[in-house]
Amino acid sequence: MNYDTRLVPYDRESISEAAELLSRGELVAIPTETVYGLAADALNENAVKKIFLAKGRPQDNPLIVHISSMEMLPPLVREIPDTAKALAERFWGGPLTMIFPKSDKIPGVTSGGLGTVAVRMPSSEAAREIIGKCGFPLAAPSANLSGKPSPTTARHVFEDMNGRIPLIIDGGECAVGVESTVVCFKDGRIHILRPGGITAEMLSEFGKVEVDKAVTAQPEKDERVLSPGMKYKHYSPKADVYVVNAHGRAFEEYCRRSGYESLIALGAGAAEKDFFLDYGKTPEIQAQRLFALLRKADELGVETVLVEMPERSGMGLAVYNRLLRAAAFRVIEI
Ligand code: AMP
Ligand code: MG
Repeated sequence: MNYDTRLVPYDRESISEAAELLSRGELVAIPTETVYGLAADALNENAVKKIFLAKGRPQDNPLIVHISSMEMLPPLVREIPDTAKALAERFWGGPLTMIFPKSDKIPGVTSGGLGTVAVRMPSSEAAREIIGKCGFPLAAPSANLSGKPSPTTARHVFEDMNGRIPLIIDGGECAVGVESTVVCFKDGRIHILRPGGITAEMLSEFGKVEVDKAVTAQPEKDERVLSPGMKYKHYSPKADVYVVNAHGRAFEEYCRRSGYESLIALGAGAAEKDFFLDYGKTPEIQAQRLFALLRKADELGVETVLVEMPERSGMGLAVYNRLLRAAAFRVIEI
């Protein structure tokens, strides 16, 4: 790992260059509608190994395989449940990842040693053009160093990946801002392993929906979790993050009286004064801004980040899930 990392705008030329590097088993950071992805040929074991090295990601944390057309799915999986077909028709391309029994084409490194594979078709035009040009699926976790907040701009990727990969494609700010919803199919139900832009409410049109307990609860030490990525402290800036279960004025007063000297406070629709920053009134805006604000805490060099409790339904569940992990499950009850 000693690259002269180039950051280039998304255009015809950079798409071709990205596809060429990926075909040679190199890594390229690409924009998607959720967060920036660190992409490699999902079917090339050596290429995928480089992802784990560049990110410092634990080997047992499986990757999501990205496709650009429905024809790319059948060779990767052993079975496609009817519910999955219906969900694909409605929500692909978009921020929904589905877990399938994997075919032999998927190497063990890609699936983190599991017999299943996670697949998603992004809506991002840039992502789909790059996959289409490659002609093979791309394994792509978020393009941050393991544990850090996910990147929602190309500059965030550069901060973490400079020197570690040859190319970053700049497609502007990510529209959704948090990673995809991950679901598996269990006992005839749609089981949410990670909440995201496709909400439980949206999925419930297609069957009974269950939210995995690991979405909001801290896994016991050594507990086997269905989605290995959920057990790690995650999305964290260097500062200590706390979720404060209070709203509006009560949140503001708590922060002022907290006694922390070096802090920022992220309020929902807060006026930006003193150490207060607005992280958005709606869960959709909060999702879009959250990771950039957590990175900003590091830029400012503050020691503490206090965050107003988000809504815990709809898109708010995704915001809450990421915040809990950024905060290592520290919630302050007022
Ligand atoms: P990221 O790479 O940051 O987008 O995270 C991918 C997420 O998908 C992680 O939380 C993984 O644990 C989860 N995931 C990927 N593949 C599987 C799988 N086969 N079974 C269950 N969860 C998976
Ligand atoms: Mg990630």
